[in-house]
Parts: sequence; C-alpha cells; structure tokens
Amino acid sequence: MKKVAIIGRPNVGKSSLFNRLIKKRDAITSEQAGTTRDVKRRNTIIINKQVELLDTGGLDKGCELFDKIKEMSLKAAYKADIILYMVDGKGIPEEEDKKLFYELQSMGKDMALVVNKIDNDKMKEKLWDYYEFGTDAIFGISVSHNRNTVELLEWIASKVPDSDIVKEDGEEQELTKITEDEISDDDFFAKYSHTDEEDDGFTYWDESEEVDNSIFAQNDLIKQFDENDVNHIKIAIIGRTNVGKSSLLNALLGEERSVVSSVAGTTIDPIDETVNYKDKQITFVDTAGLRRRGKILGIEKYALMRTTEMLESANMALIVLDASEPFLDLDEKIAGLVDSNRLASIIVLNKWDISKKEEHDKILKEVRDRFKFLAYAPIITLSALSHQRVDKLHEMILEINENYSQRISTSKINEVVEKALRRHTLPSVSGQVIRIYYATQYETRPPKIAIIMNKPSGLHFTYRRYLTNKLREAFNFTGTPVLFKAKKKGEK
Ligand code: GDP
Ligand code: GDP
Repeated sequence: MKKVAIIGRPNVGKSSLFNRLIKKRDAITSEQAGTTRDVKRRNTIIINKQVELLDTGGLDKGCELFDKIKEMSLKAAYKADIILYMVDGKGIPEEEDKKLFYELQSMGKDMALVVNKIDNDKMKEKLWDYYEFGTDAIFGISVSHNRNTVELLEWIASKVPDSDIVKEDGEEQELTKITEDEISDDDFFAKYSHTDEEDDGFTYWDESEEVDNSIFAQNDLIKQFDENDVNHIKIAIIGRTNVGKSSLLNALLGEERSVVSSVAGTTIDPIDETVNYKDKQITFVDTAGLRRRGKILGIEKYALMRTTEMLESANMALIVLDASEPFLDLDEKIAGLVDSNRLASIIVLNKWDISKKEEHDKILKEVRDRFKFLAYAPIITLSALSHQRVDKLHEMILEINENYSQRISTSKINEVVEKALRRHTLPSVSGQVIRIYYATQYETRPPKIAIIMNKPSGLHFTYRRYLTNKLREAFNFTGTPVLFKAKKKGEK
C-alpha cells in the first residue's frame, strides 16, 4: 500500500488535512502548538484507492527550530511514497521551506506542494508566489473551507496504482443500512439479500450514455465532506456577460427585502449574499464576483474558470440566457459545466420583455435543442428588469430544491422497477439471464439510486434509459439530475 506523508511546519494545517482525509476528528487540531502527540498512521481511501496516511503533525508541535522540523520531515519523507509538503498560504514563501522542498524532491518521490488556508478567491492570488518552488504539482486549498481539495485528492489517487482500488466499502454499508431500515420485512429484498458476497463490478449511469466515473467518485467525496442542509440552498447565477445576471440577482434579493447577512470569507469583499425565503435560506454564491467582474468583458477561458469555481460552492444553478439575442456557443459551454457538476438547475430565459413575441415558440424550442444535456431543467421566461415572474422563480427554486433533496422509500422505487420489469423483461446477455434484485436510493442532493443486480455490466444502455424514464415518470425529479449505479449483489 502506498504511504502518504503530510509534512511541513507546525500549524500549517497538517492534522486538519489528515482528519479530513480519514474523515474523522480523532486527531485534535488547535491553534496551540503541542496538541497532537504521536505520529498517526491510518488507512484510508482517497477517491477510490487505498492508502496509508502518515500524519507528522505530532512530531513538530512546539518545535520552532527549523533544523528540527527538517530532520523530522526527512525521516517521515523517507518512509513515504507520496509526499504532501504543506505550507500556510497566509504567510509568504520562505527560503527554508523552498530549500527543504528541493531536498525532498531529490528523493525522487511523488511530491506535491500544498498551499493551505486559501480560504477564498482573494487568497488565490497568494498562490502565485508559490510557483517559485518550481513544481507543477501545486495545490491551493483550504482544508477548513473545503476548497479545491478534490484536485489534490485526484492527484494523490493518480499516483496510486489501480491494483489498490477498493470496492467502496463505505457505500455498501450505507446501502445495507438503508435497506434494512426500510424494507427489512420486504420479501423481495429478504429473498435476495446477501452479506457475504464479493462486490466486484459496478457501473454508474445517468441520462446520458457516456459515463465518466471519475465525476461520480468526486461527487461522492464532496458529499461526505459537505453535510448539506436541505434548508440551505446555495445558488450560482451563471451565464455570459450581459445576459442579465446581476440584474437578476438584484431582482431576487429585492423581492425579499431582508438581506440577512453577507457571509465573508475574510474581512475583504462579501463573497456570498444570503436571504431568508419562506423557511429556507438562499445563498447566492460569489456575488462580489458577479457584481464586480461581471462588467469586465470576459475572455472565454476566464468566464469558464470563474463559473467552475462558483459551481463548486453551489448546489443549484440558474443558467441565465438572453432571449432577445441569438444564443452563442459560450452559452452552451457554460451550461455544460452545470451538467458535469450534477447540480439542481433552472434555465432562466431573461429579457423576455424585449424578445420578439412571434418568436417565443421558436426560442423555447431552440433552448431545448441546444441544451439537450439539461433536459431535466425547467425553463422559466422572465424579465429581471421589470421583475416579471421573478416571484415565480423564487417558488421554482424551492420546488426544485425539494426534488433535488428528496428521499424516496425503497418500496416505492421497487414498485416502479418491478412494474417496468414486468412490461419489458431484461434481455439476457450471451445466454446469461440478467436480473435486477431491487433498487434503493442511497444518497440525495442529487438523488442517487443503486440498482442491485447479478451482473451490472449486462444492463444494456437502452434498458438503462428505459428504467431512467420510468423512474422520472413516477417521481418528481424536475430540475435535478438523478444518478444510477448498477451494483452487483452476488449470484444465488
Ligand atoms: P498542524 O500543526 O500543521 O497539524 O496544523 P493544524 O491542523 O493543527 O492546524 C493549525 C491551525 O490552522 C488550526 O487552528 C486549524 O483550525 C487552522 N487551519 C487548518 N486548515 C485551515 C484552513 O484551510 N484555513 C484556515 N484559515 N485555517 C486552517
Ligand atoms: P450581466 O453582465 O449578466 O450581469 O448583465 P447585467 O445584469 O449587467 O445586464 C446587462 C444589461 O441588460 C443591462 O443593461 C441591463 O439593464 C439589461 N437587462 C438585464 N435584464 C434585462 C431584462 O430582463 N430586460 C431588459 N430589457 N434588459 C435587461
């Protein structure tokens, strides 16, 4: 198993990262040096790969002498296969760190420079200073704000051989738990449930045929870190320049006079703005960026980068389009980012007041044609300027949030699945009978459904599509992606 060592000066956040990675809080973190005592070793899973994590936090607490830190770091690095050299992004790059980094680099091991405490967008600029370390493997993250950790995780996972891929134990447990709670008396399940079989082979899919498993792995991790509150909706208003994003933001904030708070990452710009609506909290993410940078006529790449960042901190996207002008490729590119982030979404056709009446049907049809990958997103036509139907958008946001956050009981899902199976039997694959035993939702925001079967790879995509459609017909999944995972449950 590959060993991953987190090293660096005291208080840069090593134990915090360690805890995050083992998803527990058993190493104490604190401002005071001297709290973590021992070197911790823990086996954990990064994305989908098994590694052993070494936390050297305990070694250096209370130690301010760099020579001592260096000695300990070298020791730890010696034992490791992968080295995460961590520095505090709030400070400035230090010569000693740089030298030690080079020395460690000469060991020829996989090594990344992790600049921690990049808590907000403003802090990102600090990252540039660290490019003087001369490594490409540089990650500006914030452990405590959970920013950009996914990229680091992916990097680590890429350094671990495929032979160390694990079979998602955590999920299996969760799955078992849910099914026990909900259908323990269900003959259907009891008949087919096993606990001892090997779980090889699984596939994911959603409505599109092409499935990129890495996205799911990422999202699974994000979900574990981020305990989303159903009553808190985080919205990214996205779209190219001049479609009316900031006007829409004003309209949405204006409808509800009581602006609760401006949540700031630090003392600088308010990044997010939050309003209470009905009994929900709605946070519009990175509104400072929207107000400020929205005016800069964007380089395409920059616009896409910014959008990506916003989407990372959101769970719903309002994709704003200008109905008074032809759609552009950039509209599609921006909307495409939403799909790959698996967010709840609404397509907002803005400037409806100045769009041509006789073209209304044509415009709506074009949106559906161009944004096929967002087929699940409802379209609302409105005017941010005159506030026409902005109240309706508020309602829609709440409704879509419900759909995105719902938990459907296993028995209800299985009613639909069974009915679907009766109507169309599963085609067998080279003589082998393909069976679906049962289905169960194992996660929400967005809903994820596992289909437990004898041979996941035997599920033809046309049948997947058929099942997906049946489930979408039966439940209200408007505005939310639904992810499916075919999972093996052993053969009788
Ligand atoms: P270690 O000595 O390197 O193990 O550092 P710790 O993990 O104990 O963290 C030192 C302090 O930095 C603690 O107070 C943490 O809460 C804080 N900290 C860790 N990560 C971050 C971060 O991303 N941003 C900020 N602002 N503080 C952090
Ligand atoms: P952003 O760059 O996407 O944030 O776009 P703005 O909100 O700054 O809007 C760009 C321009 O479109 C401004 O001149 C707005 O007044 C105008 N605008 C925004 N929404 C509407 C709308 O619904 N109807 C009309 N007629 N104009 C709008």
